[in-house]
Amino acid sequence: MGGTFDPIHHGHLVAASEVAARFSLDEVVFVPTGVPWQKKDRKVSHREDRYLMTVIATASNPSFSVSRVDIDRQGETYTVDTLRDLRRERGDDVDLFFITGADALRQILTWRGADELFDLATFIGVSRPGVPLTPEDISHLPADKVTLLEVPAMAISSTDCRRRVTSNLPIWYLVPDGIVQYINKRGLYQA
Ligand code: ATP
Ligand code: MG
Repeated sequence: MGGTFDPIHHGHLVAASEVAARFSLDEVVFVPTGVPWQKKDRKVSHREDRYLMTVIATASNPSFSVSRVDIDRQGETYTVDTLRDLRRERGDDVDLFFITGADALRQILTWRGADELFDLATFIGVSRPGVPLTPEDISHLPADKVTLLEVPAMAISSTDCRRRVTSNLPIWYLVPDGIVQYINKRGLYQA
């Protein structure tokens, strides 16, 4: 599951947990983005902060792990490179699934190397409150390579979490407790 994770929140974690259960995945690898090219218009937190928050949030789940492939790669992050690196690391006999929210899946054809993506992994598009996504929306994508899954609705976004911190509103219960504490300790998202 790729993401900026600025910060990681319970929407990410619920989606990962649900996909892991429904698809009997051995492991969910969270891959914090190095330089998200879609987010050039805003300031993104330091990659090591986003990496550490992802580690903290996933530490208690034995089947969750965090990969540094994207944050250790120079330049902008493209999912095709992420999947190539994971494939190289883990060998040809693993099945890769890329977990993505409905909003990100909508952009999929604009991604660099979109045609190669489907050779590298199966895409699981999870539902996200406020983002309508129907089977017709993905009918132009290869049916055996893209699946939609309804996950418990969590109307949480990192953008909202950042704004809440900036406005001194609580983010307790939107993100894991350790993330609230990490954000305070590092002074992230302060006005
Ligand atoms: P931002 O508001 O900064 O874009 P975000 O909440 O969208 O943050 P990302 O790190 O951009 O989080 O998302 C990583 C992946 O998780 C994307 O595929 C996104 O669609 C998915 N995702 C994020 N929040 C949810 C949610 N509440 N429910 C389902 N999927 C989600
Ligand atoms: Mg997003």
